Amino acid sequence: METPLKKFLDNCYSEFIDEKAGRVADYIPELTKANPDHFGISVATIDGYLYEVGDTDVPFTIQSISKAFVFALALEELGEKIVESTIGVEPSGEAFNSIRLNRKDLPFNPMVNAGAIACSGLIYRSAKSQAFDLICKTISRLAGRNLDVDVAVFESERATGDRNRAIAWLLKNYSVLEGDVDEVLDIYFRQCAILVTARDLAIMAATLANRGVNPVTGEVVFSPKNVARTLSVMTSSGMYDYAGEWVYRVGVPAKSGVGGGIIASLPSQIGLGTFSPRLDGYGNSVRGIKVCENISAHFGLHVLNRGNDVQSSLVADYDMSGITSRKYRLPKEIKILNENSNRIRILELIGTLDFVKADFICRRILMNSNDIVVLDFRRVPGIFQSANLLFEGLAKIFNAQGQALILCGFEKGSALGGLLDKWVHNQENVRWFLSLNDAMEWAEGQIIEKYGVTENYDKVTALSQQELLKGLTDKEIIELEKLGMKKSYKSGECIIKADDSSQIVYFLLSGIVNVKVSNGAKLASLAPGMAFGEMALLDQNRTADVYSETDVLCFELTLKNYIIYREMYPSSAEHIVRNLGEILSGRISKLNNKINALTK
Ligand code: GLN
Repeated sequence: METPLKKFLDNCYSEFIDEKAGRVADYIPELTKANPDHFGISVATIDGYLYEVGDTDVPFTIQSISKAFVFALALEELGEKIVESTIGVEPSGEAFNSIRLNRKDLPFNPMVNAGAIACSGLIYRSAKSQAFDLICKTISRLAGRNLDVDVAVFESERATGDRNRAIAWLLKNYSVLEGDVDEVLDIYFRQCAILVTARDLAIMAATLANRGVNPVTGEVVFSPKNVARTLSVMTSSGMYDYAGEWVYRVGVPAKSGVGGGIIASLPSQIGLGTFSPRLDGYGNSVRGIKVCENISAHFGLHVLNRGNDVQSSLVADYDMSGITSRKYRLPKEIKILNENSNRIRILELIGTLDFVKADFICRRILMNSNDIVVLDFRRVPGIFQSANLLFEGLAKIFNAQGQALILCGFEKGSALGGLLDKWVHNQENVRWFLSLNDAMEWAEGQIIEKYGVTENYDKVTALSQQELLKGLTDKEIIELEKLGMKKSYKSGECIIKADDSSQIVYFLLSGIVNVKVSNGAKLASLAPGMAFGEMALLDQNRTADVYSETDVLCFELTLKNYIIYREMYPSSAEHIVRNLGEILSGRISKLNNKINALTK
């Protein structure tokens, strides 16, 4: 696909294709056979999309890039205690093949030969004869395909690798290596000779960027903790004695190999793999370094150059004055809510919540002391552990102060639900609702209970209390009553189906009914004194289902009988229609309030 990033990579390729500086590695005789002109650039995104330019499917040996992955594998297999007591994590400031150890007689870090041979030794310690297989399978899982070894390169390095042999014996002397030194060296030389392409490297790097999950295959290869450890040593030592300069200029964790490959891994974004065999004096690919520098500088990808905007985590922050849930209430309750609904505060959050965004939200909430705060997570795809910990702290403060905190807008079984669930359940004053409306209803109920008395919805109300019949004389009501009939429903019955063609207006005398659209979402919850199916007075379409939530008593008037009534009492009928207009305009103004709250 021709995308802006693809265009950029194409340009990068043309810009550096004529760069001929550097020399192909020759200390391993077989490596001199590499074609110095090969040049490939590949980028894999954490959603598994691949960009490729040039020679991205030409195989070459992975060499030192394997060090990063075998280190991660050692952490997985033996745990950090053993690994950290065997190998340091300090940059050595020396060439990759330096034979010097640190003051404790341990390798400086796992990215130089001494540390890498020690890592291979650790895998050998735990997997014995299976060690190489385990390494090769793991690197294959990172690439998402089965990788082979270039036997000629392996044998060539084994035949000439006396310097590494010397390092290994030195490690053996200090008990960093255990067992058969030659067997460990065999594993090390073989792992360096695994054949990869620039495309493989991009996917491997993206797996690190994606916290250990291969973004193409979805396979979990390493744990996030061990990936972070690996990226740390890549940052401080991945480019040998050029590492400091690298962090300064490029600022993306990387690792290079004398085969001409480089991986660069930008956490939570992309993995980059380059291939170009000509190396500089440090043993790093000349063109590879230029590509990395170019991408990082052009797009400002340095990991220490990050921006954030805490305020963008809030879509809306409002209290409920002038706003109600979709539950219509009886007059006394409405009065209590009108006076007190500013005690309910709603914050609609958006985006992945990180540490400082969560802190901002906590501060916003604690600026006022509302009885109830609802956090709507509908637009939140994820939350960092750090943010979750802050919210957990917020829940404790709320609990201590007797305020209620409500979370809504996510499924309990979802990934987000799993994270939040931990503290929802530990705190008495923290509650969960699926939808914002459910949360609002509950909050209103609490306010009504605290500042007034809850009404009895089972008490049968008179027809004269219907809001639709407001202002009609007793006589007009008695005449209307003669034209309809009372009917009761058990709780949970369907009273109106959306496609129902029967034209009846229902006046709710007792109980609660819910108006629902076909996907089950609740449009409204009605209380005694309200009518439903009343739109039949205006048009013929039923657009929603109506179910009884409790046992219900209705007064039902067919449209036919209403027309008879209209002929008998035209001015009274006009009154009813005017009432309907008033009710509808009230609903619209409530909707406007909501929209206002959302956009201010
Ligand atoms: N196999 C090589 C060695 O140990 C790996 C070195 C490298 O890629 N820098 O010499």
